[in-house]
Parts: sequence; structure tokens; C-alpha cells
Amino acid sequence: MALVTYSYEAPVSQSLFERAAAVTPGGVNSPVRAFQAVGGTPRFMTSGAGPYLMDADGREYVDLVCSWGPMILGHSHPEVIAAVQDAVSRGTSFGTPGEDEVALAEEIVARIGPVEQVRLVSSGTEATMSAIRLARGFTSRPKVVKFAGCYHGHVDALLASAGSGVATFGLPDTPGVTGAQAAETIVLPYNDLDAVRAAFAAQPDEIACVITEASPGNMGIVPPEPGFNEQLREICHEYGALFVSDEVMTGFRVSRTGWYGIDGVVPDLMTFGKVMGGGFPAAAFGGRRDVMEQLAPAGPVYQAGTLSGNPVATAAGLAQLRLLDDAAYEAVDAASEQLRTEVAEALTKAGVAHRLQAAGNMFSVFFTDEPVTDYAGAKAQEAFRFRPFFHSMLEQGVYLPPSAFESWFVSTAHDDGALERVADALPAAARAAAEATL
Ligand SMILES: *Cc1c(COP(=O)(O)O)cnc(C)c1O
Repeated sequence: MALVTYSYEAPVSQSLFERAAAVTPGGVNSPVRAFQAVGGTPRFMTSGAGPYLMDADGREYVDLVCSWGPMILGHSHPEVIAAVQDAVSRGTSFGTPGEDEVALAEEIVARIGPVEQVRLVSSGTEATMSAIRLARGFTSRPKVVKFAGCYHGHVDALLASAGSGVATFGLPDTPGVTGAQAAETIVLPYNDLDAVRAAFAAQPDEIACVITEASPGNMGIVPPEPGFNEQLREICHEYGALFVSDEVMTGFRVSRTGWYGIDGVVPDLMTFGKVMGGGFPAAAFGGRRDVMEQLAPAGPVYQAGTLSGNPVATAAGLAQLRLLDDAAYEAVDAASEQLRTEVAEALTKAGVAHRLQAAGNMFSVFFTDEPVTDYAGAKAQEAFRFRPFFHSMLEQGVYLPPSAFESWFVSTAHDDGALERVADALPAAARAAAEATL
């Protein structure tokens, strides 16, 4: 492996990272932030405005992560900040019902046809964990089908992933998840309906639900093939299982109504997070009324949260969703398209094999010529080219996701000025990717 050193320095971030590593495992509160896939010092950000982030060393970056999706209006949007300030001035948590949580639930129900009732939680992980418990409670069945490369948060049962060579039954991906928990999870290759049919045929009365990312964005962008979600739903219903669509990433991001608005397939349950919290911890799961009414206190399936429906988080989410009209999505889509064109041009010019795959305004770059339709395909790309590409962009003031397997995100705030800065940085980064060696 070629030894690549990066000459640019970030002394304040470096010293903060050392302090962090002393008191926090790996120096971060969520693993991908540690830059392990790309090396170097993670940048400690101090503020954000529109499409820009400022780090502790005083450097400004065009932000193409957008907090992994939530900041779809850019950072510090004045109307969201005003809503938060107004909410904060009235108190931060009451442990009682409040009007904003009703309004946020009404907004979600009004936007997303299949959601007749919704329960607010504080993270996408909680949303998928609760949706699965509910599916198991509703069907009185133990097993869950998920797809390799789909991420549904760090729920024990959903961290099982087949990994190379394990075809059907999930093995734990991480210490701390027991074999018994993983054994209730059936991991299948994405976009493979025959594998789904075979799993149901082998255990027709055991499977409570199939959970899938509505359009996967956590192995890079790997959209469902035409008809895949529709067929999943039909197979589920044929066997009396529920179809759970995880829209934590795509929900309210790829359209007013998320991926559901693009493919129109009606799930039994859906999960949301990221954009709906406006940058605060707010998430949700919802769907068919007869299923949702099994939840406590209406029904027997227990689920709860001290800070669920928190008034500051719901005010932020509500303000953000109310600003997300058709014009906002047109702006995000246009920025995404322009950026994709710029990236493709630069990589083509440098002679780097690549594929840009998009799901609405989310997209990712794979260093391969081949279409990527599943996790094995995503892993087969020349990921070693990403590290020098990433660092060249970072050095030139563009903040990309620090991994070759993540979506890039833009916002309504990514104007011509921001996109020009990215365009100016791309040729050198593309050359660095071209020169990369294993
Ligand atoms: C981010 C994500 C989650 C987990 O959400 P957290 O808020 O990080 O717990 C679940 N599912 C999908 C599809 C996601 O992208």
C-alpha cells in the first residue's frame, strides 16, 4: 500500500481529537466521524451557515454531508432557528403531551398516504427497533428479513448481515449481539426476489416482516430495481407478513413524500428520522391504523420514551417540514444534478472508472464501470481511490462523507457559489483518484 501523507494541518482539531480520545472510545460518538476509512484528523466543526461548515482551525468547507441528510435547508436556516428559539424560551421538556407533537404527526400523516397513525421517537434506530417489535407483536411471529448492505440503525437484530460467504442465516456482525438474536434475522442479497421467495417458502409461518431501505443509501446509493419494492410487498402479504419500508434517510429528502412519492408502493409500516427532526433528535414510525393501534397504551405492544416528542425537536422538525414545498425539492434536485455532472466530468477527464448512482437528490460515486445493484457489487469497487480523492477535496475546502460507501447530500442552500467551489476542487481530486494505488 502506497504511503500517503497529508501535509495540511489542523492543529486545533488534532488537539481536540486527542482530548476526545482520552474520554470517549475512538474519540467520537458515532464511528464514521472518526475518519478511519480515510485516515487523517477528523475536523471538529464549530458552526454552520447555509452550505458551509467552519472548523475549529478557522477553515471553511462546502458541506456535502449535511449532517448525513437532515440539513436539507442548509445550516442555521433563520426560520428553523427562530422556531427553536421560540420553543426553547417556553421550556425544554415537560413529560406531557404538547401541541407541536400533534402538529408534527398531522404533517407526517397529511404528507404520506400510507401513514394513518404515527408514533414519535428520538432516533432512527428507535424507530426501526420499535417497528420490528410491533410487526412481531402484530403477527405473533419471530423472524425478520433484511437485506445485506441495508442499515437500519444499531438495533441488535438488524446488525446481523450475511457478510461474505454466509448465504441465508444471519451471523452477528458485532460482539454483543447474540447468536440467538441474529438467528431470528434472515439476511438476503438486495434486489434478489428469488431469495425472498425461497426464504418465505422455507418458513411460511415464521416471518413477521421484511424490512428494507425504501431506496438503499447506506452502501452507497443502490436503488431498487423496477418492481422490487412492489414484489416485496406482494410476497409479504401472500404469507401474512408485514412490509416495513425504512425511510429514515429518504423520507422528506428525496421528495415531499420521500421515496414513497417516487415509487408509490404502500408499506404496512414506515420509519422516519433525519430530515424530519430539523437537526434535532426526532424520528418516527407509522403506518396502518390497525397495526399502530396495537401499540401501548392503545394496545399491548409496549413502546415509550422520556424525551419522545420533545418540544424543541418537534418545533425544529415542524418548521423544517413546513418550509419543504415543491420549490425546495426542485432546488435540491437541481443542485444535486449539477454536482453529479461536475463530478462525472472531472472523473471522466482524469480517466477514472466511475459510476454515479442517484436516488432522487441523494447520490454516490462508485469507482467502478459496473452498475451496482447489491452489497457485493458495492464492495467490488476500487474503494482505495476514495481516500486520496477525499483528502484532496478536504484540503481544498470541500467536506465529503469520509467513506466510499455513503451518500452525498446537498441542500436548498447549495447555490452557484458553493457548487463552483466544488467544481474548482474536483479536477485535482480526480487526478489524485487516478494516481491512487492499492
Ligand atoms: C440513519 C439511518 C438509520 C438510523 O438512524 P439513527 O437516527 O442514526 O439512529 C436507520 N435507517 C436508515 C435507512 C438510516 O439511514
